[in-house]
Amino acid sequence: MKLVVLGLSLSSSWGNGHATTYRALLKSFAERGHEVLFLERDVPWYRDNRDCPKPDYCRLEFYRSLEQLHKWRPQIETADAVIVGSYVREGVEVGRFVQEHARGVTAFYDIDTPVTLAKLEREDFEYLSLDLIPHFDLYLSFTGGPTLDRIESQYGSPAARALYCSVDAEAYAPRHLPKKWDLSYLGTYSPDRQPTLEKLLIEPARRLPQLKFVVAGPQYPDAIDWPANVERIDHVPPDEHADFYAASRFTLNVTRADMIAAGWSPSVRLFEAAACATPVISDRWDGLDRLFEPGHEIYLADSSEDVVRLLQDIQSKDQVGNSARRRVLAEDSSQNRASQLERYLQEAAERRFRRASTNPRESRVKRETERVALVTGGAGFIGSHLCDRLIESGARVVCLDNFLTGRASNIAHLEEESRFELVDHDVIEDLPPRLRRTGFTHVYHLACAASPPHYQADPEHTMLTNVVGTSNLLRLAEESGARLLLTSTSEVYGDPEVHPQPEDYRGWVNCTGPRACYDEGKRAAETLAFDYRRSGRAEVRVARIFNTYGPRMRSDDGRVVSNVICQALAGEDITVYGDGSQTRSFCFVDDLVRGLMLLMDSQSADGMPVNLGNPTEMTVRELVSLVKEMTGSTSRVVKRPLPEDDPKRRKPNIARAKDLLGWQPEVELREGLQQTIRWFDEERRSKRAPWRGVAAPDAEVPLIQAAE
Ligand code: NAD
Repeated sequence: MKLVVLGLSLSSSWGNGHATTYRALLKSFAERGHEVLFLERDVPWYRDNRDCPKPDYCRLEFYRSLEQLHKWRPQIETADAVIVGSYVREGVEVGRFVQEHARGVTAFYDIDTPVTLAKLEREDFEYLSLDLIPHFDLYLSFTGGPTLDRIESQYGSPAARALYCSVDAEAYAPRHLPKKWDLSYLGTYSPDRQPTLEKLLIEPARRLPQLKFVVAGPQYPDAIDWPANVERIDHVPPDEHADFYAASRFTLNVTRADMIAAGWSPSVRLFEAAACATPVISDRWDGLDRLFEPGHEIYLADSSEDVVRLLQDIQSKDQVGNSARRRVLAEDSSQNRASQLERYLQEAAERRFRRASTNPRESRVKRETERVALVTGGAGFIGSHLCDRLIESGARVVCLDNFLTGRASNIAHLEEESRFELVDHDVIEDLPPRLRRTGFTHVYHLACAASPPHYQADPEHTMLTNVVGTSNLLRLAEESGARLLLTSTSEVYGDPEVHPQPEDYRGWVNCTGPRACYDEGKRAAETLAFDYRRSGRAEVRVARIFNTYGPRMRSDDGRVVSNVICQALAGEDITVYGDGSQTRSFCFVDDLVRGLMLLMDSQSADGMPVNLGNPTEMTVRELVSLVKEMTGSTSRVVKRPLPEDDPKRRKPNIARAKDLLGWQPEVELREGLQQTIRWFDEERRSKRAPWRGVAAPDAEVPLIQAAE
């Protein structure tokens, strides 16, 4: 493959660990038959201290400015993969340039992940910014373990993978030299490492004056009081490192504080010492035991006593050194690292390919030519009308439902339709693999009981339906490149203090009440949907639906329209909660479904929720009079106390839907009620549905048992 790397430096290892990392990795990568171009910013410090100006395994080119980088645009465009490293000067602009032009895989290689993440936290975007991370196909990191999960979940990386430093096994091999020191340490002075060095080397040296110690590395302050048996060496050139380790009975590994905090951050010195088969004594940090087995491949020390004990033990420790070397050769040689990089890039390319075949431009074309829609909750009230409209529009429709509140009778008329298929499945379970291969272009996600008696009957299941179910569906949308429309609810506004509610009103919601499984569940579902969208994983649309009514509502679902109609038709008392002055606005299901389909197809409504509902407000009292008049009912009206959390007013602001979709309700209440009353009347006569209504004011109240 053709790989372009934009890294801090390859030409100079002076004052940076990047060059040695890149050299080992890219040399082995090139040996695997790949072509590598390294682009290095030409800056004075490295220019003046180049110890590898012309590597023989790759092409090294310099650029002086971002403008000059444009010269390499054709190579970036046509490369199979482009890696941008940490600490690249003007790295954010470089990253953006790469993301804009690269057609292959793009990756960020973080050679100092804890520092990078700390910078991002304090909004220091020296070489990486938050918006870039989701758009790199890969985030390669010197730190592994839980940090990788954080990079994916918190920062939106599609794939974060550990790519540790590695060791050149030829340069770092055992040499049989006489032992000069009992314990050595190789490392530049660093204030945060010094206390550990004091504890694990200087203090043992004081306690064991008969043994010999050495500390090699620059920048140690003069004020340090070195015991007489500690030798100081200011600089050991890299080609003498192996001899240095060979001359040590043990060598010490001391880890930077931020690396200890993150864990899973092996240093190159650790691998190098191990490759030389010198037994390593190390400080302790999370993840180290996954790299070397304590006691067999490495010694861990917490105190001076631990080190003293080891040094006093005269038994040979060759076995431990040799085991560590075997482990490093098997897992951490530069050849291994190069093959690991190759695998990561290939996997990212496959993911990219999968997405490319489903990526916005192609998906859009496919969406426009051949619609394959999944409708979850398709056997429910709104879902079944949506299935009808989609079939009428020529789409292929798969209806997925667990029949919790949905009914087979709602979709029975579609049974013979060749473009319609029913899948009986619960969205909180893994989706059937067959669905993954269906190639959906649209996912309408409606699955969730909408009326309080039903969603409160098993609140945990309701919450999981919204969170786990939505996550499953978003993954499906991501895999198939489908656009997903989430049916959220006006309930996300809770008991609103703002009337009517615009989409940017954040709501007044109670997360501990009996409705929380529904409204907080929907809020979480929206969060998931927008996170997927933000990280480019799926196209999403979010509809916040307000009270909807029409044929196929259930008579037992406790919504105000169905209750009033059913009670009026049955000649039962009509229950009104409170004094009936609370207002509601009702949208006829045909209008709503038209709105959902417009929203799904809208480009301009991307990235924002859209209210769909009827802004015409009426009191519950007015609704009751109208239904009584239309049904000719003589039922009495009886009043009951208002239930907990019952919103006093609920009215949508539909300015956004009007602007972006050109949508507004068209069906007059009287006309909609007529169709609904007719449907309930037929139902009542045919006795197909559970009949006696649960007396509750609307879809927004807790379970209240029906009065017999
Ligand atoms: P509904 O109860 O008639 O339909 C929901 C459908 O989802 C049913 O067929 C049910 O069996 C199915 N379902 C529930 N949980 C499921 C699960 N875990 N797996 C698979 N299927 C499952 O409700 P509706 O009125 O048609 O509402 C549809 C969607 O619109 C819901 O998401 C609801 O929250 C939303 N909504 C409706 C209204 C309204 O006034 N009707 C208002 C706001 C939001």
